[in-house]
Amino acid sequence: MRVAVVTVGDELLVGETVNTNAAWLGEQLRDRGVTVERMTTLPDRTADIARVVNEYHADYDAVIVTGGLGPTHDDVTVDGVAAAFGREVVESDAAIEWLAEYGGYSHEDLTEGTGELPAGSRMLPNHEGVAPGCVVENCYVLPGVPTEMKRMFAEVADDFAGEARHVVTVDAAEPESALLDRMGKVRQLFPVKVGSYPGEYVTVRFEGTDAEAVEEAAAWLRERVDPVEE
Ligand code: ATP
Ligand code: MG
Repeated sequence: MRVAVVTVGDELLVGETVNTNAAWLGEQLRDRGVTVERMTTLPDRTADIARVVNEYHADYDAVIVTGGLGPTHDDVTVDGVAAAFGREVVESDAAIEWLAEYGGYSHEDLTEGTGELPAGSRMLPNHEGVAPGCVVENCYVLPGVPTEMKRMFAEVADDFAGEARHVVTVDAAEPESALLDRMGKVRQLFPVKVGSYPGEYVTVRFEGTDAEAVEEAAAWLRERVDPVEE
């Protein structure tokens, strides 16, 4: 299963808010054996959201969008997603009922726009906040507030499944360029994906669906590099 993650918010683009939603979703999806192929951050702008969601929903098995779900003027995600699927935005009976029953909000209490979703979408209740999310075809629309987003993702997490992948890392106290020969060799010997991440030292990351092969590849390299002193 191949997925794209779209995070919406002007505050993300200027670094005011660190995009923890993308990182958290990436990890969750990886753990479920789902491949995340795109992570795109967009401004709070309807046309941009519509264009990107339209493209991604055709290219990937699912799209997860977070942020900009509330009823304030800068929250335009529902409009953008509806436009991507050529649907209107309408008041959702399911959302209004849920907000009345579990949120204790009467229809008059709700800020205008709360409970409006793309026509024909499936409402996702917001157990940690107010604004509901939704599922439109293969697009999952979740809130921006991390606690709300995580709780709502739990509602749909079972839709995201793939082959479990295993990851083992090996740290090496050598320059990355010096490791190239052994990284090439380990790639030839084992059916695993090998990545290297330089920093204070180099972290070599092995990933694959065959846990044993991943362990063996990591062990092979561990024996052949200068270890990082603790
Ligand atoms: P609300 O209904 O509260 O307006 P919302 O779904 O519209 O929620 P936003 O308005 O986009 O969400 O953001 C609400 C809060 O969540 C902001 O403080 C924002 O910084 C934070 N937030 C939004 N997106 C992310 C993200 N990708 N990672 C971390 N925090 C985020
Ligand atoms: Mg908002």
